[in-house]
Amino acid sequence: MNIIEKNANDAQQALRHLEERLKNALAPLKDIVGTQVEVSEGHCLQHGLFEQRRRTLQVLPHVQQETECPACLRAKIAALAKRIASERQQNQAQF
Ligand SMILES: [Zn+2]
Repeated sequence: MNIIEKNANDAQQALRHLEERLKNALAPLKDIVGTQVEVSEGHCLQHGLFEQRRRTLQVLPHVQQETECPACLRAKIAALAKRIASERQQNQAQF
């Protein structure tokens, strides 16, 4: 794999990771044994209020996972997808 392919691969992976985080932020609440979910209002400086889920591991109460602002995640996904597309075009132009 050359460096251009590696960068493209990393960007694809980052994109999948963001999509996973968005899916998680929007998915219906599910029961996971050993964890507890709290739903509260998160506040995003850019997008205002959103539904935020905070999952706590019962045996390790200091381990918490909070979902992020879905609008921010969507914006990041759109920006990254655009970057991937334009880099792909540039690479094709070079060869
Ligand atoms: Zn936001």
